[in-house]
Amino acid sequence: MENCIFCKIINKEVPSTIVYEDEKVIAFNDVNPAAPIHILVVPKKHVEKVLDLKDEEMEIVAHIYKVINKIAKDQGFAEKGFRVITNCGKDSGQEVMHLHFHILAGKTLGPKIVG
Ligand code: AMP
Repeated sequence: MENCIFCKIINKEVPSTIVYEDEKVIAFNDVNPAAPIHILVVPKKHVEKVLDLKDEEMEIVAHIYKVINKIAKDQGFAEKGFRVITNCGKDSGQEVMHLHFHILAGKTLGPKIVG
């Protein structure tokens, strides 16, 4: 998708620190981390947000959770714990309109999910 920053990262037109990649997804460090570990897991197919996922695209979500577990184990924070967040639409504060899953880890995260 033209003018989509995450599509540009997927196409390697914009640099990022990639921590995992396969044919369906890419994962890279968030440029403005909210925790010591802040990774974004992004489907390569451009889908704007959760609400736009078609039935036949739901398998990508299962795959993304497999990748999240793999990253957590590979990077050694699986047992300590982590948080996964996906924003959807205006009220959530979604800034990048390309579906993505935040992984936050590396410290004891606060009890509040909503700021
Ligand atoms: P959201 O508010 O859920 O849309 O989150 C978008 C996230 O993308 C934010 O945490 C940004 O810091 C992050 N972000 C935006 N541009 C880039 C980029 N070029 N590389 C890495 N992360 C980015």
